[in-house]
Amino acid sequence: MSTDLPAHARVVVIGAGVVGCSVAYHLAKLGWSDVVVLERRQISCGTTWHAAGLVGQLRATRNLTRLARYTCELFETLEGETGQQTGFKQNGSLSVAADKERFEELKRGASMASCFGLEVEVITPAEARELHPLLRIDDLVGAVFLPKDGQINPLDVAQAFAKGARLNGASIHENTPVNAIRVANGRVAAVSTPRGEIAVEYVVNCAGMWAREVGHMAGVNVPLHAAEHFYVVTEPMTEIAHNLPVMRDPGGYIYCKEDAGKLLVGAFEPVAKPWGMDGIAADFAFDQLPEDWDHFAPALHNAMHRVPLLERAGIQTFFNGPESFTPDDRYHIGEAPEVRGYFVAAGFNSIGIQSSGGAGRVVAEWMVNGHPPMDLWDVDIRRVAPFQGNARYLRERTVEALGLLYAMHWPFRQVESARPVRASPLHERLARHGACFGEAQGWERPNWYARDGVAPQYEHSYGRQNWFECSAAEHRAAREGVALFDQTSFAKFLLAGRDAEAVLGRVCANDVAVPVGRVVYTQWLNERGGIEADLTVTRIDEERFLIVTAVATQGRDFYWLRDHIPAGAHAVLSDVTSAFAVLGVMGPRSRALLSALTPARLDNEAFPFLTSREIELGYALVRASRITYVGELGWEIYVPSEFACSVYDALIEAGQSHGLVHAGYHAMNSLRIEKAYRHWGHDITDEDTPLEAGLGFAVAFDKPGGFIGREAMLRMRESTPTRRLVQFALEDPEPLLYHEEPIWRDGVLVGSTTSAMYGHTLGGSVALGYVAHADGVNAEFVDSGSYEIEIAGERYAARASLRPMYDPRAERVKA
Ligand SMILES: Cc1cc2nc3c(=O)[nH]c(=O)nc-3n(C[C@H](O)[C@H](O)[C@H](O)COP(=O)(O)OP(=O)(O)OC[C@H]3O[C@@H](n4cnc5c(N)ncnc54)[C@H](O)[C@@H]3O)c2cc1C
Repeated sequence: MSTDLPAHARVVVIGAGVVGCSVAYHLAKLGWSDVVVLERRQISCGTTWHAAGLVGQLRATRNLTRLARYTCELFETLEGETGQQTGFKQNGSLSVAADKERFEELKRGASMASCFGLEVEVITPAEARELHPLLRIDDLVGAVFLPKDGQINPLDVAQAFAKGARLNGASIHENTPVNAIRVANGRVAAVSTPRGEIAVEYVVNCAGMWAREVGHMAGVNVPLHAAEHFYVVTEPMTEIAHNLPVMRDPGGYIYCKEDAGKLLVGAFEPVAKPWGMDGIAADFAFDQLPEDWDHFAPALHNAMHRVPLLERAGIQTFFNGPESFTPDDRYHIGEAPEVRGYFVAAGFNSIGIQSSGGAGRVVAEWMVNGHPPMDLWDVDIRRVAPFQGNARYLRERTVEALGLLYAMHWPFRQVESARPVRASPLHERLARHGACFGEAQGWERPNWYARDGVAPQYEHSYGRQNWFECSAAEHRAAREGVALFDQTSFAKFLLAGRDAEAVLGRVCANDVAVPVGRVVYTQWLNERGGIEADLTVTRIDEERFLIVTAVATQGRDFYWLRDHIPAGAHAVLSDVTSAFAVLGVMGPRSRALLSALTPARLDNEAFPFLTSREIELGYALVRASRITYVGELGWEIYVPSEFACSVYDALIEAGQSHGLVHAGYHAMNSLRIEKAYRHWGHDITDEDTPLEAGLGFAVAFDKPGGFIGREAMLRMRESTPTRRLVQFALEDPEPLLYHEEPIWRDGVLVGSTTSAMYGHTLGGSVALGYVAHADGVNAEFVDSGSYEIEIAGERYAARASLRPMYDPRAERVKA
């Protein structure tokens, strides 16, 4: 172990758990040998040492599965490469389902995984029992088996990463806590330890459950909270074969693995125990928390049911250890927006061992290349909102977060804890109208409105849920009459100053040097032509632009623009989200309704599509923008917050004679997907370009001054893209698509869906998804294929189109 602390290092990794060691390993392998790992006590002494060591590859999303798969592949070779034993054993893993809904969930996951070559088998209970003879199967409906999954010794794998890092030039210093981080000019400059200071270019916060505190050292928000996590280990028994696959029974909240002739049984119980509210003791190392048999008893009972041998087994060890959980059960990686050069890899929600390889690799590549190597939005630290660092919020959410790992991942499931946090000024009024609220970034948003005796609560299933008809009525109102959407959660920024036009001109792919009152739909691209943001820019006057984007990307988009304002430019960026409520008045009767409340002319000549201006509405002065995310005639009304209620009341009163209907986000999603409007984070990401995504119409190639990404786009324009975003509609009106379903063309797997919803006008499930073909994807290729989309292992015929199936000529929005 190194003893001398250098005065300078290119990178200091804080924390030598499995993740910190993996980051150092990958950095060193990429040639950054000037890497120093600082560990407050000893390698793996935090959470890593006591992990159960399950290594599974099937995760909730495509990209997380890609990372877990890489980890597994790396574990196959790590021991050989480093000479450090890891105990990796590919005995496979088995997930069992005791009801048809759980089986559907498993099968949908298996379909998703097969899209990128993961070996996965859907099997019968009898086949499951052949693989795992200790299993009780009389109440099982089916199972999924992943032969390449397995288990590993966490302590050893951390040591293997550490050894590999050192072999490639990194140094690791134990008993060296970082107690301060110095920031200069917005960039990380040095870390302090009791043994001295190290000047740095980068730090990586891999401090596990201490990461929030290590974030605070530099003003970086890393929202996570520890919870107790329990397992027991039995006495050895001869019936326990060495090659038993890992078994998960999520319905019983349990997992079980063979461990040196014993069984280890762990749980993700529905109501968890947050831990460490008063801070973590300075000397915490290789520590355990007290036993809690009462808390573990229901899980153990379920385990005995599933593996009856446990009824006879003596318990040798009761283990309770802390692990950190994030508000959305997804880990945090990437460069923190608050401080340049400050990276984070923390908050692993009980999958840190199986994620360690992938997370370490992408963080290292991100640092070395200056940008993420793939779409990592699921886990990107830029997704977190400042309020999510709030200790009470984190503590309450953690009670739910742990259990959500094994809960049913129902479509449209909403978190229940730590709510409400943020609400529109209209919240109470909307609730009185029957709104059933969902949660997004802390916002309470109406997803649908209860009517016809339905209660405003979700009744979940994989089929049509209880709100299906309510939402269908909202959809029809927007298509045929007029609907009111509360879109207050939209993020809104103001860029003001003499150079505002020039700054936005470089950042936007579309032309924003437009007359005052124009609304411009645009993407923000990176140098590679990937889509970093998808939003609208409205010119308010010569020197002010209003930028409107989605709630999920509020932080990301703000920081992107902030970081692209050149030093010395006269352009000030402010987040004005809280200043305005937003009411979407959408549908063919929207003009008539609004005309009843405003003296302003709303006809096409006076107020054409993609224009915006201030108008009187009710007693207020509001900004009306003629733009839509639902594909109909309509206006988004930006109302200063304190006027929101009076404007809403006026709309409701006048709306009575126009058949105004409240509509929620589920209807909006259905409407937008029929019109093939893209959604950033699903259909378009920083890995996709406008040409692939069918957004070339919004790229002003020839505008003066160019824009970021233009050169890459020009190169791409020379050939046919090898993948294109295509719209699909199932022929059969019954099955429901959600997203991540495999797409088959003439019997060949060509891609997967990126988002989907039931389209009430098109009369079936509608999806967007990329179709790939090495020789290029053009209209002829798309039109000449015969398509199927796979749901839970079964394929359904689908129509495909590059043009929107609903209103392809955009006549309705311009009506
Ligand atoms: C009971 C249990 C079972 C689990 N089972 C599994 C499993 O089967 N599969 C799986 O994938 N995951 C499992 N996990 C989760 C897994 O253990 C964690 O996700 C993983 O170990 C997290 O690694 P880490 O490196 O982020 O954190 P840690 O291992 O906690 O490492 C963080 C390190 O940072 C150090 N540190 C903190 N502050 C400072 C500072 N200021 N200066 C220097 N150093 C600092 C700490 O001392 C610590 O060593 C389990 C967790 C528990 C509790």
